[in-house]
Amino acid sequence: MNDKQLQQWVEEISLRSFGVPFRHQARFNGRLRTTGGRYFMKTHHIEINPAQLEAYGTDEVEKIIKHELCHYHLHLAGRGYQHRDPEFKALLKKVDGSRFCQSLPGQAKRKSLPYRYRLACSDCGMEYLRKRRVDPDRYRCGRCRGVLKLNML
Ligand SMILES: [Zn+2]
Ligand SMILES: [Zn+2]
Repeated sequence: MNDKQLQQWVEEISLRSFGVPFRHQARFNGRLRTTGGRYFMKTHHIEINPAQLEAYGTDEVEKIIKHELCHYHLHLAGRGYQHRDPEFKALLKKVDGSRFCQSLPGQAKRKSLPYRYRLACSDCGMEYLRKRRVDPDRYRCGRCRGVLKLNML
């Protein structure tokens, strides 16, 4: 799919789902990294990540286009167009748009885990925090080579 076809697609979705024409420009942008789409407030252009199409197919990209069109139409109408605005949420739900400017697989930021375990040396008292459960018998204290005991935090 090229930019021209994307433009037609966005115009068609705009009329079908919003009942209002899309009068600006839609194009692919291969430099969008973590988002599937973007709406530009200054120019009113919409950009779609081409990798999104390869990764998720047309159904998902249509939902992303709807998401961007919610920003677009509400912004132009002078209404609440941001993610936190009730009008945005309501319109998104109505047209069945994607809830997020969807992240690409593998690029989603891993949420860092909290420390949940503590290994304590029974000889010198040194403590080591761990995020995952470990077998204390397999390790020794890094300071004194003493025996370690595992506790949950
Ligand atoms: Zn958005
Ligand atoms: Zn020790």
